[in-house]
Amino acid sequence: MEEGMRRAAGLLSSSSYAVALTGAGVSTESGIPDFRSPGGLWSRYDPSEFATLSSFLENPSRFYQAASEFLSVFTAEPNEGHKALAELEGMGILKAVITQNIDGLHQAAGSKRVVELHGNLRECKCLQCGKVSPIEVLVEKLVQRGELPPYCDSCGGLLKPNVIFFGEQLPRQALEEAFECARRCDLMLVAGSSLVVSPANFLPPLAVEAGAELIIVNEEPTPMDAFASVVIRGKTGKVLPELVRLVKEALKKKNMG
Ligand code: NAD
Repeated sequence: MEEGMRRAAGLLSSSSYAVALTGAGVSTESGIPDFRSPGGLWSRYDPSEFATLSSFLENPSRFYQAASEFLSVFTAEPNEGHKALAELEGMGILKAVITQNIDGLHQAAGSKRVVELHGNLRECKCLQCGKVSPIEVLVEKLVQRGELPPYCDSCGGLLKPNVIFFGEQLPRQALEEAFECARRCDLMLVAGSSLVVSPANFLPPLAVEAGAELIIVNEEPTPMDAFASVVIRGKTGKVLPELVRLVKEALKKKNMG
């Protein structure tokens, strides 16, 4: 691992346009369960009954009952992994964080350019009139008023968190920006993603095909490890701060040399 860490730090410090791609794994150490780890949400809920647009429309109350397990997302704080990525951006190394997460923790940690592929939990949207409101509107109805499911005050339509469900189109602008980053980058750092969700998992092969180095940080193997220049097995909350330390060391050496 030590050797891989040094190699990854060397690649990061000599890159000119590095981008990160993150998944639910970067937020597990903030107390938000991911989907596919042992004990993750998928071990208790069937995604086809829970996170598709058609299942939501068919039975919104069932969705909101399962989603109550996810309420930790509103009180979670960024962890050392989020902070390390923000620091790498501050140092001018990372040019963007593309994330599949909806929890807003990269922004809370100080990352400035965050491309959210799957929407965000800061807002809710009425499926009838399209009105977008702060998520607090939905939470108040759900938690304080016990409205299950919650409906729009303006038109009575069903309210949905402004996140992308399976089977929904991804936000076009975010998708275009992510693909542009993948084509342009000379290094992609993937942290805490199982790399099985499309189209996010098209990004690493696209970057590699365009000549970028790929670094994967994950506790478990991913289907794309074989394409990576370096695979680091470990927790992002530990590995990413250590990478930042090593990058600083490598830059210092470079500047002295
Ligand atoms: P995933 O649940 O499919 O995979 C998580 C990956 O992270 C796994 O490979 C796991 O081994 C790894 N992991 C877990 N904790 C880790 C840690 N501390 N350090 C290193 N690796 C760790 O997540 P995904 O790839 O992001 O795709 C699933 C979908 O889940 C996405 O669409 C995302 O929108 C949604 N999701 C988001 C959140 C969130 O916003 N925090 C939480 C759950 C699910």
